[in-house]
Amino acid sequence: MRKQVIAGNWKMFNDIQASVDLSAALKNGLSSLSVNCEVIVCPPFTALDTVRTVIKGSVIKLGAQNMHFEESGAFTGEIAAPMLKSVGCEYVILGHSERRTIFGETDQLINKKIKKALSAGMNPIFCIGETLQERESNVTFDVIRRQVVEGLKEITAEQMAKVILAYEPVWAIGTGKTASPAQAQEVHAFIRGLLTELYGNTVAGNVVIQYGGSVKPDNANELLGQPDIDGALVGGACLKAESFIGIITAAK
Ligand code: PEP
Repeated sequence: MRKQVIAGNWKMFNDIQASVDLSAALKNGLSSLSVNCEVIVCPPFTALDTVRTVIKGSVIKLGAQNMHFEESGAFTGEIAAPMLKSVGCEYVILGHSERRTIFGETDQLINKKIKKALSAGMNPIFCIGETLQERESNVTFDVIRRQVVEGLKEITAEQMAKVILAYEPVWAIGTGKTASPAQAQEVHAFIRGLLTELYGNTVAGNVVIQYGGSVKPDNANELLGQPDIDGALVGGACLKAESFIGIITAAK
C-alpha cells in the first residue's frame, strides 16, 4: 500500500518572516489533525534553515527546489547536495518544468542530478510532463516515455525505492487548468506501466507518483482518489496554510 505524499513547492516566494509565518501556521494547523500522508515543504534556499527550526517536532519534512549535480566546486550561485543534507533536506525537487523551460535543463542534466541526490542520501521528486503543444500534437506518451527513460538512466531498482515521480502537465501549472482526474489517471497508469517495463511489477507498484498542476482543496479529493495518483506536488495553493492543509486532509 503506497502512502500518499503531499509536497508544497514555494518557488521564489517568501522572505524569512513570511517563511516563519507560513511554516508556523502549517505546523499549528496540522497539530490537531490526524495526518495520514507524508507532508513536505520546499521553501527557497534562503529559508531552509529557518523553516527547519520552525517545523521541528512536527510531521512536516523539508525539501529543496533544485540542486547542482557536483559534490562541490567552482559553480557560482549553485547549491550542492551535501549542503542541502546539512540543512536538513530529505527531499529535492528535480526537473521541474520551470527548470526545463526557463533554465534549459535537459533530461541528461536531470539524470545527473537524480543520481547525485540519491548518492547523497536524499529523495528526489522527479518531475515530468508534456506541454500544451505536445498534448495537442498527440505526443504526450512519447514525451513522458523519453523523460522517464532518460531521467532514470542507470538508476537501479533498489534506488527507485527513494524516488518520487511527479506528473505535472506543463499546461496545468499555475494556469488554473487542471487535468481531469481521468486525464491524469491515464498518464499515471502509463507511467506505472513504463516503470513496470523498466523495473518489474513490485518496484513499479511501490513508486509514489504525484500529480501536480493547479491542485486546490476543491479538486484534490477527486484527483487523489484515482488509483495511480499517490499525492500532489502543489505550487500556488501551498502558499496559504489553510489551502495546503485542505489538500493534505484530502489525501488518503
Ligand atoms: C508546480 O509548480 O509544481 C505546480 C504544480 O504549481 P501550481 O500548483 O501553482 O499549478
